[in-house]
Amino acid sequence: MRIPLIAGNWKMNKTVTEAVTFTKQVTDQLPDPSEVETAIAAPAILLQPMIDANSGGRLQVAAENCYYENEGAYTGETSPMALKDMGLHYVIIGHSERRRYFNETDDIINRKVHAVYNNAMVPILCCDETMGRRESGEHVHWVVSQVTAALKGISDDEAKKLVIAYEPSWAIGSGKSASFDQAEEGCYLIRQTVADLYSDEIANQVRVLYGGSVNPDNVKGLMAKDNIDGVLAGGASLKEETFLQLTQYKN
Ligand code: PEP
Repeated sequence: MRIPLIAGNWKMNKTVTEAVTFTKQVTDQLPDPSEVETAIAAPAILLQPMIDANSGGRLQVAAENCYYENEGAYTGETSPMALKDMGLHYVIIGHSERRRYFNETDDIINRKVHAVYNNAMVPILCCDETMGRRESGEHVHWVVSQVTAALKGISDDEAKKLVIAYEPSWAIGSGKSASFDQAEEGCYLIRQTVADLYSDEIANQVRVLYGGSVNPDNVKGLMAKDNIDGVLAGGASLKEETFLQLTQYKN
């Protein structure tokens, strides 16, 4: 059975004070992690204060990115080894904003996926899709190629722990979510790609999330789909109330 994962991505938002207030307010109201896991990916500078504010609570504090080397002369980068040392479990890798604004290629993303596993953490690997590619019918090939490239050299044991987020970039931050059927189709495609690369057994263990303008009104419909095991939410994760509503989608 795949445990649902409701994850937020704060991007470059919030101060330490705001992050600590948020964490303290939500942590006691989150669902039992054996039924629904909850995570917030936050900028590196906020992580330790959030971990301290959570103090053994139910929120998984996650990173939005890391570098692919553990240490060295890489000014301004975040070490995956340091994230592991903080006690982190999840790191977002390959978000479309990293691909677009920071020129992250499939090769860089593949190295980062390896670095996350080498530090005994789990990547939340993001795959995007543009409206242009969808309209020209190229989106299937595009999604398959991103997943295939990101997982080059990843073992069966590593792959089965994976979380992959299907995030059409036309739905991110636009307020215009993919329809439930489009989201299911994208998540199914990702699961099938994992099955082709590994096996049906592994594909059935991998959790696939949908991301793109998820909100308290559409989360239940998305979560009702067979291949959607959770969501990755940007805007709706910034406010305590809406994040909690996402995590309580079953109610
Ligand atoms: C995201 O940041 O990955 C995202 C999906 O953002 P939003 O929910 O705001 O569309």
